[in-house]
Amino acid sequence: MSAHLKPTRLITVGSSDAFNHGGRANSCFWVADELGHYLLDCGPSTTQALQNLVKSQQVELDKLDVIYFTHLHGDHIGGLPVLLLELNFSIGRKRPLVLAGPLNTEQRLKALCEVSYPEMLEKMLNFELRFIEWSLDAEQEIMKRVVTSIPAQHDPNAFPTSIKIASPQSTLCFSGDTGWHDALVQFSKNSDAFILECSYAKALFPGHIGLEEIAAHRAQIQSKKLILTHFGDESRAEALARQNELDFDVADDGKEWFL
Ligand SMILES: [Zn+2]
Repeated sequence: MSAHLKPTRLITVGSSDAFNHGGRANSCFWVADELGHYLLDCGPSTTQALQNLVKSQQVELDKLDVIYFTHLHGDHIGGLPVLLLELNFSIGRKRPLVLAGPLNTEQRLKALCEVSYPEMLEKMLNFELRFIEWSLDAEQEIMKRVVTSIPAQHDPNAFPTSIKIASPQSTLCFSGDTGWHDALVQFSKNSDAFILECSYAKALFPGHIGLEEIAAHRAQIQSKKLILTHFGDESRAEALARQNELDFDVADDGKEWFL
């Protein structure tokens, strides 16, 4: 971070896996940097979790500029329709909202909105949605931040990506949902924070990461701060027990960092 810039504020909105284990909210982070405010993913429980952060005065919903989606599974996109309606009816939003994600983001998100609230995009919203779909392995400027994405190892039907978002202050890396693969090491190198999924304690499922894999590769990861998220009950308990030994932080709903 340059000395004259304010630090980037990273707030955990939801830190659970797809199934809200531990009573936590689905995958979502709120980030405030010099350029504005954005969400990383928007799981089904996002609006409820955001309202808790509004109550604790950690976020203001009308400041949201853009949502970056890592992939198109329900536990990462399912909260969008209700959030859009909240912005429209309660906040009175008029300015456009940017929705950025991998290939097929526009078609999938429009279908999600249409099936949730028929005609909401045409007849209910008083603000414009601007869709941006990123190319893999290419730098793309989105809302003045440089976004880079690489393919994630996850269900191909969800167009899974890991993303890196660079602002003048900070570079943030987010694995999205993925199995372990060595490209994550280079991708996250020298970032200010690497948010890494940790669905399981052991490597049980090819499209997700087990804590034992993170332990095996911890010495290679060269991000300034490693933050684990997307927890099941077992992986969270194991992560809490090993956080000092392995030098990472455990995300929890409402927990925040200044980067
Ligand atoms: Zn997920």
